[in-house]
Amino acid sequence: MQTFFSLYGHLCFYRYPHPYQLEIEQYNYPSTVYTHAEPTNYLPFESTTATFVDTEEALDEMLQELKKAKEIAIDLEHHDQRSYIGIVCLMQISTRDRDWIVDTLVPWRRKLQALNEVFADPTIVKVMHGAHMDMIWLQRDLGLYVVGLFDTHHASRALGYPGGSYAFLLNKFTGVQAQKQYQTADWRIRPLPQELIDYARSDTHYLMYIYDHMRNELIEKSDFSIPNHEKDKIHDVCQRSKEYALQRYEHPIYDTETGQGNGGWYKMVSRTPANLSKLEFSVFRGLHRWRDEVAREQDDSVNYVMPNHMIFTLSRAMPSTRAELLSVAQPATQTIRLRAEELIATIAKAKKDGENGPEMLELMAKIDPTHFKKALDKTATQAAAGFEGVAKYANHNKAPPITSDLGTMLSIPLRSDKSMFWGGNSQQTRPVSTVPDVKLSVPMPPLTAEVFSETAASEAAQMETIPPPSPEQPSVEEPQDDTFILKQLGRNKKRKLDEATPAPAPDALATQTDEVTIDPASDRAAQKAERKRLKKEAKAASQQAPAPEEEEVFDYASAPSILNPPRKTIQELKAERKNSKVKDPYKKSMDAPKGQARAQKERAGKSMTFKK
Ligand code: AMP
Ligand code: MN
Ligand code: ZN
Repeated sequence: MQTFFSLYGHLCFYRYPHPYQLEIEQYNYPSTVYTHAEPTNYLPFESTTATFVDTEEALDEMLQELKKAKEIAIDLEHHDQRSYIGIVCLMQISTRDRDWIVDTLVPWRRKLQALNEVFADPTIVKVMHGAHMDMIWLQRDLGLYVVGLFDTHHASRALGYPGGSYAFLLNKFTGVQAQKQYQTADWRIRPLPQELIDYARSDTHYLMYIYDHMRNELIEKSDFSIPNHEKDKIHDVCQRSKEYALQRYEHPIYDTETGQGNGGWYKMVSRTPANLSKLEFSVFRGLHRWRDEVAREQDDSVNYVMPNHMIFTLSRAMPSTRAELLSVAQPATQTIRLRAEELIATIAKAKKDGENGPEMLELMAKIDPTHFKKALDKTATQAAAGFEGVAKYANHNKAPPITSDLGTMLSIPLRSDKSMFWGGNSQQTRPVSTVPDVKLSVPMPPLTAEVFSETAASEAAQMETIPPPSPEQPSVEEPQDDTFILKQLGRNKKRKLDEATPAPAPDALATQTDEVTIDPASDRAAQKAERKRLKKEAKAASQQAPAPEEEEVFDYASAPSILNPPRKTIQELKAERKNSKVKDPYKKSMDAPKGQARAQKERAGKSMTFKK
């Protein structure tokens, strides 16, 4: 593992060190954090309002107020479905007596960096809940860093609460039920409907009061006389909070060869029990790379382009026609429909390349021998447990031939200028594999949705949370008639291509005018069935999960319209003044910086907040 990390290390270069690293590491929390004090009651929610900060004057006014505070609560709302990198849409800040909602999509958002005066001020404690991703989002989009973080999620863990979510704490200390159906709303929408403003405000409005209670309880349950903070629960929470604050944002690098990084293929393969054949493995990597490229080009999340389980399904099925593709890729995403021809060509090429490509286990062993050794051991265990397919393989290779080749394989650098799989002729210099044909000896276990239960659950959630199309982003409607022709989709694709890419290849467009009639009725029926099945399985998977709290999926059906704000608000009036129109503020024309490239992995789609 050591070797692997040191080899991988050079990929993770940091543009600059964490600007507050020393401050955070050596930081001593103010004595108030260690002081038992009567909780300060929060002001009633109904009779107070938030100040919307969407002008520089409002920002300045807020900043002056915040500087007077000793403790403040902060939270963020983020959008990551129709964005490759993701974007902070809203920042909520509360003191004991005021709430602010900061529009982080304003074109001058870089000026929000002035908030560092408070965020990095060691005399002001920043109370946040589950701030793991918030720390990364703040530095990525706004260049903001936090010195003096106190994370109530860690407090919850330190106190051994059965729930670690904000919703749990809110209910425990105030009896208020969080309207978590708004958690994954499309936070880009402007003007912000009152429901979303209220929801966002409630995320920080009660947090100081919750903090008061938890701080007291942590103090009560600590014994400060024992050396080395062994029974110092405040210290424990503060240390863990520091770790969050010390994280770095790392611009995602896609490493075709080793599949490393959070968005890479390696993790995805290593987490599934699937042993792909040479061809399947090549198609898998080809599709994975295609998805990443397309997501970057379209500025969509990779899951919006194609969910993980579908990469595996397509790697197995290797469809060679549009009809075949659509019958396997169910439910097909908008991108899959629009770029079907391109996808088929990608599959065909990867399949061909796979003929000379590496075996899956061979390559995995080269990338991470430690893990591979574990995988081999596991294989043997599974064999003993009667996992038939692998058993054959294990028996077949009493002394696994792969390890004998490992030394040679490890001498190949993990990173080369030319791709071993998609370019150059480096294959000729690769050692000849002694691995037997895995395809013959290791049949792949059925790739059911359970295999991807974790992914399936989030995918199902995503299906529910696809935001309503904004006028600038026309979505392709499911055709209503019984048959449809590719021309219809072709036209849409052209429109999308015109938007997304400056000059589409003429032949790329030409192919779309082929009139292929398929039977969408059965296609749709099957899709529906598949969706139902996935949802059911996702639900079952979430019920099996040990988490004590139910995860709520945003229910667009029962949620009030967020496109039509229900009542007149200051925000609406302001928006009307600005010639109000629902717009996508994340249009590429926006002059806001896309994010400052720094180094720390963003675990897209994973944060403490997700457990709410
Ligand atoms: P929160 O701290 O709960 O307000 O969540 C902050 C952001 O995390 C939200 O704006 C969402 O972008 C994201 N998020 C939270 N929960 C989920 C979830 N269950 N699924 C997807 N995204 C989520
Ligand atoms: Mn949050
Ligand atoms: Zn929030």
